Amino acid sequence: MTAAPKQAVSRETFNTVMVPNYNPMAIIPDRGEGSRLWDTDGKEYLDFASGIAVSGVGHCHPKVVGALTAQANKVWHLSNLFTNEPALRLAEKFCAATFAERVFFANSGAEANEAALKLARKYHSSKGRADKVEIIAFEQAFHGRTLFTVTAGGQPKYAEGFGPLPGGFTHLPFNDIAALEAQVSDNTCAVFLEPLQGEGGVRPATPEFIQACRELCDKHGALLVLDEVQTGNGRTGELFAYQHYGVTPDILTTAKGMGGGFPISAMLTTADIAECFVPGTHGSTYGGNPLGAAVAEAVFEIVASPATLANVNARSSQLREGLLAIGEKYGVFSDVRGLGLLLGAELSADFNERARDILVACVGEGLLVLVAGLSVLRFAPSLLISEAEMAQGLAQLDSAIASIC
Ligand SMILES: *Cc1c(COP(=O)(O)O)cnc(C)c1O
Repeated sequence: MTAAPKQAVSRETFNTVMVPNYNPMAIIPDRGEGSRLWDTDGKEYLDFASGIAVSGVGHCHPKVVGALTAQANKVWHLSNLFTNEPALRLAEKFCAATFAERVFFANSGAEANEAALKLARKYHSSKGRADKVEIIAFEQAFHGRTLFTVTAGGQPKYAEGFGPLPGGFTHLPFNDIAALEAQVSDNTCAVFLEPLQGEGGVRPATPEFIQACRELCDKHGALLVLDEVQTGNGRTGELFAYQHYGVTPDILTTAKGMGGGFPISAMLTTADIAECFVPGTHGSTYGGNPLGAAVAEAVFEIVASPATLANVNARSSQLREGLLAIGEKYGVFSDVRGLGLLLGAELSADFNERARDILVACVGEGLLVLVAGLSVLRFAPSLLISEAEMAQGLAQLDSAIASIC
């Protein structure tokens, strides 16, 4: 029996059936392999975006497809009345490779952050400090779209119209040690930050700032919570970005690269902090399901390998040098920054707020890139991208910028 032909759909269909909270590009990607994607017309693109820093091992990596299909033929889902071997193996791997002693699995970055903020509040209340609720977060930060995480984020436009918002949040300028020292107190529950702000413009925390966060948390009995949703899983050239800084968090969240495109996320913490999440305090129907965990296990083995991390660092230098050269040639960039394969190029005054124009020109050249705000181009290629692919993408970027000058 042959399957019925699928009905014809196009980009125009989007406007007639989808909630209009996105405004997708005109092309529709159809399939991918490694660092390449093809659209429904068969046009090829080099992928320097990886979704948004998600497909860290490229598209359809054979080992990950193998893990997915093997588990798909075994069992996909069990309730939390049961545990499963892929989730246990994955948690053991995270504990062996990081500060973590306990792991909670969820399905998205926002959910992992939601769990982290709830855990921080619960931890203090379980110690008799239900009043120790202040969460210090930072301007320009992005932590997700649930009401709790949108409130934690530092871009007020994302919370507009959704009030009343959860209370207890204070926002401070990022990398401002004096402002932090003035604010952290005995009432502070947690200091919550991205070690490298992704959506907020690819802005790394300074080592001094992260160290000050740790010291002030220790001094006032607050928890240091790092949002590594975007920076985790090898993206910055270490398995997690905190490992560049020599500062250990109390709670860490990660998601984007973790499943290589399959939705899974994790919250990592210590045994002492985890203790207050007794049965019934928190949960997720899908979190830690065997299908997602099996995929993430295969991804972990690739991204945690020394060869992958060495490639991230080598390709990072190549990308940075290429961006600096393009910046000089066209006077287009005022700053190139970031870590590993999460780099940002801030546009110079002459190209102010033209990041999306450049992104669109890149699509025309067959290159997918990202923006972070109106004036920063963001690059997040596969951690496995080759030297030749990186050189090709830089040449396409050069042509795209020439076309809009
Ligand atoms: C993308 C992102 C999130 C939100 O993740 P979702 O999976 O979209 O919920 C949270 N924090 C950071 C730093 C992110 O980059």
